[in-house]
Amino acid sequence: MARTNLATRRIKPEHSELLTLRVVRRERISPHFARVTLGRGDVERFRYMGFDQWFRLFIPVAEDSLSRLPNRLNAVSYAKFLTIAKTSRPVLRNYSVRAYRPIGSDGPELDVDFVLHGSAADGTAGPAATWAQTCEPGDAVAILDEGIGFNPPPDAEHVLMVADETGLPAVAGVLASLAPETRGQALIEIPSTADQQRLEAPAGMTVRWVVRDNPGNTPGRAALAAAEALPTPTENTYGWVVGESDLAASLRRHWVRSGLPKNNIMFCGYWRMP
Ligand SMILES: Cc1cc2nc3c(=O)[nH]c(=O)nc-3n(C[C@H](O)[C@H](O)[C@H](O)COP(=O)(O)OP(=O)(O)OC[C@H]3O[C@@H](n4cnc5c(N)ncnc54)[C@H](O)[C@@H]3O)c2cc1C
Repeated sequence: MARTNLATRRIKPEHSELLTLRVVRRERISPHFARVTLGRGDVERFRYMGFDQWFRLFIPVAEDSLSRLPNRLNAVSYAKFLTIAKTSRPVLRNYSVRAYRPIGSDGPELDVDFVLHGSAADGTAGPAATWAQTCEPGDAVAILDEGIGFNPPPDAEHVLMVADETGLPAVAGVLASLAPETRGQALIEIPSTADQQRLEAPAGMTVRWVVRDNPGNTPGRAALAAAEALPTPTENTYGWVVGESDLAASLRRHWVRSGLPKNNIMFCGYWRMP
């Protein structure tokens, strides 16, 4: 994970253990997003916390891939994880819970929205993005719940959320979880107009879509420019920014310079442009 204060700000799950789940279905929901619904297996033991709940996702690369995984990820267990031979070590990435339904088609289920970046043809697509386009119902994955990062101080009166497309699932989860009286703005950069989603949100939260005008532009730049052009946030604002590492780090710097207390900011580089 790139630059962030997520580890110190997050609300940890009361209990976290490795859960093995199965792909229930896969759907292309827009030009740059695939939705994979997970369920079955250990899903009854998954505890939904709402907001920007995220988890470690282990994608198997061989038959025995999911057999020797840790129950929590710390420096020691991660070092041990890296000793697994590459031929069987699962791909490990971070994803958000886009939605959770306690009653789905076959028990509880959760949706995970994957940004489809790069291209499989020229080798620029990552393994997780590729898996999201090729997985089949019944395929197994393992997840480790990591809790939520959205954790405003009690006196926050205004919420300002900024994200590139990788943060869209988290923004959607936060908006759906906020108290009805919450006021503020969510600014979300997406690669194309057709990637907009209908989001459930309190009436006092404005959702603004920033469509990247040139597909070659680095994700997050347009969201950063739009967020920097907003009026200076009041000191009772809670600022939450996620996405490409430079977006998260630069906007956090801008907010701090504008007078927003550091404790009122959660920033997380969800990924880093090479
Ligand atoms: C807490 C947290 C929650 C997250 N939630 C989500 C989520 O719900 N949905 C989601 O899609 N992502 C989410 N991400 C981001 C996701 O983990 C990364 O994008 C991840 O790198 C994708 O893995 P990959 O195997 O597809 O690509 P990788 O193998 O990691 O990367 C391959 C290449 O692609 C580049 N790359 C990676 N991601 C992108 C991208 N989005 N656009 C352009 N280039 C990219 C990398 O820089 C690298 O050069 C989250 C990250 C964190 C930390």
